[in-house]
Amino acid sequence: MNATTSLSSDAITAAAPAGFDYLIVGAGFAGSVLAERLANAGHRILVVEKRSHIAGNAYDHYDDAGVLVHPYGPHIFHTNSEDIFDYLSRFTAWRPYEHRVLASVDGQQLPIPINLDTINQLYGLSLTAFEVENFFQTVAETVDPVKTSEDVVVNRIGRELYNKFFRGYTRKQWGLDPSELDASVTARVPTRTNRDDRYFSDKFQAMPLHGYTRMFARMLDHPNIKLMLNTDYREVQDLFPWKHMIYTGPVDAFFDHRHGKLPYRSIRFEHTTVQQAQYQDVGTVNYPNDHAYTRTTEFKHITGQVHPATSIVREYPCADGDPYYPIPRPANAALYKLYEADAEAMDNVTFVGRLATYRYYNMDQVVGQSLATFKRLQEAHAASPPKGEERVMAPAHSPPSVATAV
Ligand code: FAD
Ligand code: UDP
Repeated sequence: MNATTSLSSDAITAAAPAGFDYLIVGAGFAGSVLAERLANAGHRILVVEKRSHIAGNAYDHYDDAGVLVHPYGPHIFHTNSEDIFDYLSRFTAWRPYEHRVLASVDGQQLPIPINLDTINQLYGLSLTAFEVENFFQTVAETVDPVKTSEDVVVNRIGRELYNKFFRGYTRKQWGLDPSELDASVTARVPTRTNRDDRYFSDKFQAMPLHGYTRMFARMLDHPNIKLMLNTDYREVQDLFPWKHMIYTGPVDAFFDHRHGKLPYRSIRFEHTTVQQAQYQDVGTVNYPNDHAYTRTTEFKHITGQVHPATSIVREYPCADGDPYYPIPRPANAALYKLYEADAEAMDNVTFVGRLATYRYYNMDQVVGQSLATFKRLQEAHAASPPKGEERVMAPAHSPPSVATAV
């Protein structure tokens, strides 16, 4: 069966009269990696996805103009883990790609992460790598301890560069001042004294040659995997027997927000096709200080597609809408702890992925987390194999109300 075909509940019942070993909620990286691994280990899997497609937020497709785009914002794959890269390589060939980003500051487009060229172009200087390190030390304001996203930048490169490159972008992106966010957020962007203008410095940087969706389709194409699209798990969780659930949606939604809503940041994506071969010099241009959007990305740089037209996306961060980003700050971590304790107390549901574990994870980190979860599940399975035909029909907590199909 083609794994990307959405099944009716009758077809599911006919396909798996004895029920499923795993009900997997969500067909993004977390759900699909676990479905593939568990199916390969002989388990019967039902994947339920509320959207009309697989691949979660990494989903890509050809737009009306025929350009391959990422509807949920630009997704660039990078990792330092050979194991993770090798694992994904079973399902896709790759196109080498190193992402480059320019920041629009003071009327110029300058390399970000800030490097030697950024400083020389911004100030009209010709410093060497050694001299620029001295420059950073001169302008840096020592902060001890470094706790917030403001601290981490000001401590390294001083307030002026912080104001030009980080403050406005962060306020737009998160709706918060950098002083209200964990240091880990802006620490994602390094400062360099050399001329390396790549956004990432990971060992493996590449894009799936035929796109993410094709890679996911191959992952899910297994006789032990049945897939239901356009289906919220709450619609079907009591219809089929299953033993264990893997949940990859927002953790607070699973528990009906019993401790209050966990804050997430959303984004409105504005997609446009332009009738010219190229729109901008690099994959992404960041706008820390102008416009309501944070960045403009031109997909053809990333995918390598050749096409007479080009498609771009602008990202407008917002409070309401689909949850995309957990917001790393102490109050939210404390609230998540309450949900995490509830999650850990459930022995027939495992929570995996960016929103289910409220972690600002990149794709490779979600793959790593999912592979580690697979190992743990297999160990638990080996330690206490399921008895006969016994089936658990529903999670141990009181069944949530049935949600409307999406
Ligand atoms: P998701 O991809 O969100 O998958 C979860 C799935 O569960 C979704 O498809 C959802 O529809 C489904 N679901 C939720 N609730 C239910 C329900 N009740 N019933 C049924 N289905 C449900 N990472 C990188 O490494 N590089 C990048 O360049 C990059 N760029 C990004 C840009 C943006 C704008 C965003 C938002 C993220 C970016 N990421 C990037 C992060 C990346 O998207 C995530 O790490 C990854 O997609 C998380 O996978 P996941 O499976 O945890 O979650
Ligand atoms: N950031 C910034 N200016 C930039 C780029 C990033 O202030 O030009 C900050 C901002 O707070 C952002 C964080 O660094 O949210 C992490 O950036 P990254 O590009 O990793 O964000 P993502 O791609 O996850 O949205």
